[in-house]
Amino acid sequence: MAPEKTDPVAILGAGAWGLSTALHLLNSGHTNITVFDQASQIPSPYSGAYDLNKIVRAEYEDEFYTELALKAINTWKTPLWGGNFHQVGYVVATTGAAPEKAVKHLQKALGSVKNHPVFSGGITPLSKSRDFKDIYWQFTGPLNGFRGYHNRLAGYAHSSNAMVDIYQHLAGRGVKFVLGPLEGKAVKLLYSRDHNTPRSCTGFQAASGENHNASLTIVCLGAWAAKLLPDIGSYVKAKCWSVAHIQLTERECDYLRGIPVLNVRDLGFFFEPDPATRLFKLCPLGAGYINTNKSTGISLPPGESLPAPRDYIPAIDEKKLRTLLRETLPWLADRPFVDNKMCWFADTDDSEYTVDFVPSTDNSLIVLSGDSGHGFKMMPIVGEWVVQLLKDGKQNLSRWQFRQNLGKDGRDWGDQVSWRIGTTGEIDELIAEKDRVVKARL
Ligand SMILES: Cc1cc2nc3c(=O)[nH]c(=O)nc-3n(C[C@H](O)[C@H](O)[C@H](O)COP(=O)(O)OP(=O)(O)OC[C@H]3O[C@@H](n4cnc5c(N)ncnc54)[C@H](O)[C@@H]3O)c2cc1C
Repeated sequence: MAPEKTDPVAILGAGAWGLSTALHLLNSGHTNITVFDQASQIPSPYSGAYDLNKIVRAEYEDEFYTELALKAINTWKTPLWGGNFHQVGYVVATTGAAPEKAVKHLQKALGSVKNHPVFSGGITPLSKSRDFKDIYWQFTGPLNGFRGYHNRLAGYAHSSNAMVDIYQHLAGRGVKFVLGPLEGKAVKLLYSRDHNTPRSCTGFQAASGENHNASLTIVCLGAWAAKLLPDIGSYVKAKCWSVAHIQLTERECDYLRGIPVLNVRDLGFFFEPDPATRLFKLCPLGAGYINTNKSTGISLPPGESLPAPRDYIPAIDEKKLRTLLRETLPWLADRPFVDNKMCWFADTDDSEYTVDFVPSTDNSLIVLSGDSGHGFKMMPIVGEWVVQLLKDGKQNLSRWQFRQNLGKDGRDWGDQVSWRIGTTGEIDELIAEKDRVVKARL
């Protein structure tokens, strides 16, 4: 049974999906919403979206997500969201040295927009380096063997600013926020003591020891979901990719203003520089790193005992990014990278999300997870899925149902994901690599 609109609702996690959930529940009439986050501020530095920008595009191998992304893009163009959306265009390419997997993925992604009634008019094929230079006059690199296309109706959103704006909007409309590593951090879900099946989730316990009662608890912990719901860890794996930046001068920033997002499937992607910080963000593409607990098979972001490597990206990722720059903007190719980080998301083998009631919990507990590294663009509409779930009383989309009885296998399948090139590594190997690099420099 759906909760009454005045019943207490606890949303755990104030990242992209938790904030969107709060917004849509508020808009649907809920008046007693509290959002909790382990971070002391919004945007949370733990969020996968704690970043300058994220790609907003509708290219997918599966038209279900193309249609969702189109809906999200249309919502990005409304007053609440539009200040953070930049429809600068999106160029997808492969280099002359790209593996077949990257070329195939590009063709499939193009297929989803090339004949689409909304996008087809905005697609331009790019078959030689001159075609790229016509769109990016700033490109002075050789663009060896570059092939791809330009999609005019895509771009990026400023992800940290979008989270701040929605947070302020919610706080101003009566949604309560409890933040911080003690009061805001959820450590345990609480269940009724009557041993009924299905059991009832009655709220959660915070790291401070305080119990918070709620008629409906919604877990939006991104890569951390399995911390509270270990069963989801059988198919949702915390995974990280690296992010690097180059500090530009004001003039350099002006020079690159207006460039489309460039996504080179076998190397990485970059964005128009951020005018406020003058940072130019780059991400290498690859299969990422996981942190598998050998006894449970569950991957969670590292905690205090195994700190994530800071101010560091793997050598293989740096090589990809420097190649990307040499091919496109060679004057930046040897600049130092700053604000390097590893950024965590919740991955699934088929890149499907989970938006469902937790099995055997009488619809008092919902989990949203498995963003698979493509969930930020959906921020404007994610909460609608929760409102629909509450209305329907069950998840009618089998692809988004909580997967049960998978057991633990500890095996990673990241390498098989069609849109990832490379091999998934374990984070402890990365930390060992980092230590070797630091020692070699001493
Ligand atoms: C490098 C990188 C690049 C990406 N690029 C794109 C892109 O271009 N386009 C795109 O659409 N998506 C992209 N994504 C994915 C996007 O960031 C995620 O899909 C999105 O952030 C998922 O939102 P979420 O709310 O599920 O998780 P998050 O945004 O990670 O939020 C989880 C929240 O839970 C909080 N939390 C964790 N544990 C606790 C606890 N115990 N108690 C309380 N709070 C807790 C955290 O502090 C955090 O605020 C990218 C991700 C990465 C890592």
